[in-house]
Amino acid sequence: MKNLILFGPPGAGKGTQANLLAKHYQLIHISTGDIFREEIKNQTPLGLKIKSIIDDGELVPDAILIEIIKNVFEKHRNSNGILMDGFPRTVAQAEALDELLISEHSEITRVLSLKVDEEELLDRLLKRSQEFNRSDDGADIIRHRLEVYAKQTFPLEDYYIKKQKYVSLMGIGSVEEIFSSLCAIIDNLKT
Ligand code: AMP
Repeated sequence: MKNLILFGPPGAGKGTQANLLAKHYQLIHISTGDIFREEIKNQTPLGLKIKSIIDDGELVPDAILIEIIKNVFEKHRNSNGILMDGFPRTVAQAEALDELLISEHSEITRVLSLKVDEEELLDRLLKRSQEFNRSDDGADIIRHRLEVYAKQTFPLEDYYIKKQKYVSLMGIGSVEEIFSSLCAIIDNLKT
């Protein structure tokens, strides 16, 4: 069973690569951002609660994330493995995920980190904002999301480096090139 985390700042290409990888390795793809956008679209009680948080580029509270992940894991007990994209985003989430996996007699296989410099990220996110009209993709909010990433999510690099789970690669190049670099790493994993 492979439990992979695709890690990186907003705009690094996690979503695109996660879709391709999940299909290729038949993994359950968990995108917490997609889950939240769906809740907002359907105007569920959770969706109504989190809309303004997401629109402001802030993080949804850890307790909500942990509950969602628990439910998704329960639903997919017998899968080939899980590919997480956009989760965890805080140390508290990472710790809760570790505990959850331990209780399932499992663990994180690897954290695959896509590295893209900040100027390129801003450029990509502004383009995405024009193309898809995401409500959290305005210029100021984009800058804020990158700050939130630097402050709350980036420290996770160290968390996973210490656990010897971390591997990084440049997220620059064509979608196909990055996909094949990721596949080369995953194909070499022992677990
Ligand atoms: P994403 O599509 O992954 O960039 O997520 C969009 C937004 O959903 C983020 O800016 C956060 O507001 C929220 N979100 C997604 N995943 C998480 C998470 N793991 N922890 C907290 N908030 C999250």
